[in-house]
Amino acid sequence: MPRKKKLSLNTFMDGLARRNPGETEFHQAVCEVARIIIPYLQDKPHYIDAQILERITEPDRSLSFRVAWQDDGGNIRVNRGFRIQFSNAIGPYKGGLRFHRDLNLSVLKFLGFEQIFKNSLTTLPLGAAKGGADFNPKGKSDGEVMRFCQAFMTELYHHLGPEMDIPAGDIGVRAREISYLFGQYKRLTRQFNGVLTGKSLEFGGSHIRKEATGYGCAYLLKQALNHRHDSLDGKVCLVSGSGNVALYCAQKLTALGARVVTLSDSSGFIHDPEGLNPEKLAFVMDLKFRRRGKLGEYVKKFGGTFHADQKPWGVPCQLALPCATQNEIDGDDARTLVKNGCIGIAEGANMPVTSKGYDVIKRAKILYLPGKAANAGGVAVSGLEMSQNSTRLYWSAEEMDHRLENIMEKIHVQCLHHGTENGYVDYVKGANIAGFIKVADAMVAYGVL
Ligand code: GLU
Repeated sequence: MPRKKKLSLNTFMDGLARRNPGETEFHQAVCEVARIIIPYLQDKPHYIDAQILERITEPDRSLSFRVAWQDDGGNIRVNRGFRIQFSNAIGPYKGGLRFHRDLNLSVLKFLGFEQIFKNSLTTLPLGAAKGGADFNPKGKSDGEVMRFCQAFMTELYHHLGPEMDIPAGDIGVRAREISYLFGQYKRLTRQFNGVLTGKSLEFGGSHIRKEATGYGCAYLLKQALNHRHDSLDGKVCLVSGSGNVALYCAQKLTALGARVVTLSDSSGFIHDPEGLNPEKLAFVMDLKFRRRGKLGEYVKKFGGTFHADQKPWGVPCQLALPCATQNEIDGDDARTLVKNGCIGIAEGANMPVTSKGYDVIKRAKILYLPGKAANAGGVAVSGLEMSQNSTRLYWSAEEMDHRLENIMEKIHVQCLHHGTENGYVDYVKGANIAGFIKVADAMVAYGVL
């Protein structure tokens, strides 16, 4: 007979913290899920008896490896590479690679854990993983990035395969890095297959992949506002970040009638009260994607103001879209947003709001679309890139955009289904429960693994 167990949040989190000392981001991401899932499990003993929560918070495996490479000066450099294969319960391991100076195991475990629920929500057969390296691509030459990517893939390729684990990009990993990584994989294995997504169109990439996370975030926000009989039309939006997610999110928001007044990078933020338009966005895309410059240049060309070393959350707005990185909205930022009349937050980034920030937002009961729902469009189109690679048939940009919007609608419906209570939609609850059920049911079916 299985043990009868009552699960309490404190006991569970104490155990998790003991087993994973010092991994604060991982604790934060698990706690956000556990405080929704534990009450949900209380009348579902088959999940509790099967220890689903204990098992789902332990990665299938964590890989860490040395990456040695030579810089342009001939100096030998050493970085640490990672791949956390979190769960392949509902499909092969899938999730991005992040190259960032401060990357560590805690950040990767939080990202890999969130990926389980996000990938499940897409309705596609995708397991969850995350990886990367503490390599800082800023200021490196193309040759240095190439040598690093080749050294990184020389170890990682042992653990990858189109039916096993399929990485993609994330912060610091875009088309250039994916191309170097794919080239090296192809060279080592002599196989041309869909082992990475986010590839360029010439060698098996999908239309709309680079836009997908940002577009998907704007679509979900539109759908959630429509559900409240509201719209994006004329809404003043703060967007943070200036990578793929931020810029394509700003592009779609603008196309859907909103006014995007900020963008940010590591040097500060720009505020353009008139809002971005296609010409201004094209300038920023060229600045960021091709010239790898700083946002201050925008103000010299188009006016507005540049705020060095600051975040944009003090600018009065109706909607906020954090699209930069984790924990970029803290308790004070959230209070300022609410005080200034913000009615909704949609997370283009993964876990951009701290626990204190989340408490403020929850109390204010404003619309809040968590990253696992709002930024799932990226990995969803990665899933569709895998389908296209397998069938060797490719869809047009229009077709892909349509499929993306459709998947975001399915995500919205799942959130409504599991998150609606007395007319109020708790999207955090909806996304976590919907994402959990599919994976948990698969785990129960497999028996003890
Ligand atoms: N890095 C993205 C994410 O956070 C995309 C992952 C993928 O396409 O596999 O979901």
